[in-house]
Amino acid sequence: MPETPDNPTPRSVLVTGANRGIGRAIAERFVAAGDRVATIYRSGDLPEGVFGAVGDVRDTASVDAAFAAIEAEQGPVEVLVANAGITRDQLLLRMTDEEFSDVIDVNLAGAFRCVRRASKPMIRLRRGRIVLISSVVGLYGSPGQVNYAASKAGLVGMARSITRELGSRSITANVVAPGFIDTDMTRALPEATQKQYVDSIPLGRFATPDEVAGVVEFVASPAAAYISGAVIPVDGGLGMGH
Ligand code: NDP
Repeated sequence: MPETPDNPTPRSVLVTGANRGIGRAIAERFVAAGDRVATIYRSGDLPEGVFGAVGDVRDTASVDAAFAAIEAEQGPVEVLVANAGITRDQLLLRMTDEEFSDVIDVNLAGAFRCVRRASKPMIRLRRGRIVLISSVVGLYGSPGQVNYAASKAGLVGMARSITRELGSRSITANVVAPGFIDTDMTRALPEATQKQYVDSIPLGRFATPDEVAGVVEFVASPAAAYISGAVIPVDGGLGMGH
């Protein structure tokens, strides 16, 4: 892709939670594209070429300190991928306040803390790409995941409000909504449940993390400059129509 004012190369990219799973695959994609890539992560090893700032998205001071370290290393963040997420599955009747609020704190408020911190430099630059990793479950629903679905649906309202607030500064905000992806998160499900899910997916399989990463890379690319406030499914047809 040629270098243009809207497409300086390499770009400063931040992917939260790039030590494993989908976040790791996304970070690897941007590294392969020649971008400068950083992550806010808690532990573990990182893909080659990724700058790691230890931090926890549940804590504003920790997020702010990690951003400062990343900015010092590679300049203001031009592409933010809010990927860090957790599940605490439980049936509604048994779900505790902690199980509900823990998931909201990481998945929704954690994304908010990162977006808020990233937005000022993006406004100054008059460009930016914000990609929020949601889930098919956010709009489709899932028994035992009232907390998780609420957190992931909230990201849609967040991206659309950011679009309305910051769109005039050439900042886009989109949601990528994966279906079932082969990562630690889905491997933790009982085998019978995994089989049940596979049977309900029109494409008949889970996706690889890289199949999500490719879509994120596109949404952050110059080719997607006019896409904002969109929910882009990567779910093998599971949620179509939602
Ligand atoms: P994993 O459980 O494999 O990885 C989750 C990542 O989030 C890890 O890097 C983890 O870090 C990080 N993380 C969790 N809590 C925090 C925190 N408080 N601060 C910083 N980082 C944190 O999940 P996946 O790769 O499967 O999922 C990635 C995203 O994709 C999540 O938002 C998930 O909800 C979403 N998703 C996943 C699907 C799937 O089928 N796998 C389907 C749809 C959406 P650590 O290693 O330190 O715990």
